[in-house]
Amino acid sequence: MAGSPFFERVALIGIGLIGSSLVRVMRRDGLAGHIAVCARKPETLAKALELGLADSTTDDPLAAVEGADLVVLATPIGAYGAIAEIIGPGLKPGAIITDVGSTKGSVIRDVAPHLPEGVHFVPAHPIAGTEKSGPEAGFDSLFEGRWCILTPPDGTDARAVEAVAALWRCTGSMIEQMDAAHHDQVLAITSHLPHLIAYTIVGTATDLEDDLQNEVIKFSAAGFRDFTRIAASDPVMWRDVFLQNKQAVLDVLARFTEDLTAMQRAIRRGEGETLEKSFTRTRAIRRGIVEAHQAGTFKPAEPDEDKD
Ligand code: NAP
Repeated sequence: MAGSPFFERVALIGIGLIGSSLVRVMRRDGLAGHIAVCARKPETLAKALELGLADSTTDDPLAAVEGADLVVLATPIGAYGAIAEIIGPGLKPGAIITDVGSTKGSVIRDVAPHLPEGVHFVPAHPIAGTEKSGPEAGFDSLFEGRWCILTPPDGTDARAVEAVAALWRCTGSMIEQMDAAHHDQVLAITSHLPHLIAYTIVGTATDLEDDLQNEVIKFSAAGFRDFTRIAASDPVMWRDVFLQNKQAVLDVLARFTEDLTAMQRAIRRGEGETLEKSFTRTRAIRRGIVEAHQAGTFKPAEPDEDKD
């Protein structure tokens, strides 16, 4: 296995939960010489400086990438295309550009056309997160023991792929490489659909009449509580995920709707055996996740956080 990578100059476009967690690892392990941070709001940039996450800050993406060996896109994915168009002409020959976005097909579609010859694009998605946002929400153990999926387009320079993989190994992540379309299908079922269900169920509770709504909050049982945590995730980030992974989400949603209808029928007809059989099968999935050490907790203060 290769050793720790070192990047003389890193540009981070976006310094929220994910970007700041990655930078914390870079700082901890001395993986970067200079870290230039770009965000839109002065308060975000001031916070990044205050937390020691940036050596320089700017609201201009083009200025941020000047001379950078590694550029990390860590904004909501809906902004990637416009940012790539701005930074494309300023990227140093031989630079590596990577990202942390939750979808991969749309990222390649939006970013790749703006990259000049000789710049290496290695899209990445760390499967870790919480419902918190902003530079102060990050922590350096966020990615420990989690998967990071790389989706380099065919023909990507192998050394660039290895450099990005080595960076993510420093975070404690395990690396998997796959095709972007496959990534998007897998994440549609493991992450995107569950978020959609959570947003919907909490939305349904919000629409209840006032007195019932108060009871929902007061007697919030574990099931609903877990959904509210997921449904507290960043609205802009998740808006973009659904818009950018539209087809895969719609495909999996169609399958889910069929299965939900089957459950509805089983309940209406009093088919207890059907229900029990289905619940027994799903219990085995949970056991599999626990056995694969992917059910864990990583932030002592909030032990049930587990998102991506
Ligand atoms: P976040 O905490 O909301 O941070 C987003 C950052 O991007 C902020 O610093 C924001 O600062 C900046 N930003 C937004 N639009 C920008 C623009 N047009 N130009 C420059 N900076 C911009 O978001 P996050 O949770 O870290 O998510 C970042 C990426 O990681 C997303 O693509 C998401 O899909 C992916 N991801 C998230 C999770 C998760 O659980 N949260 C997990 C895995 C991957 P300003 O508002 O000041 O511009």
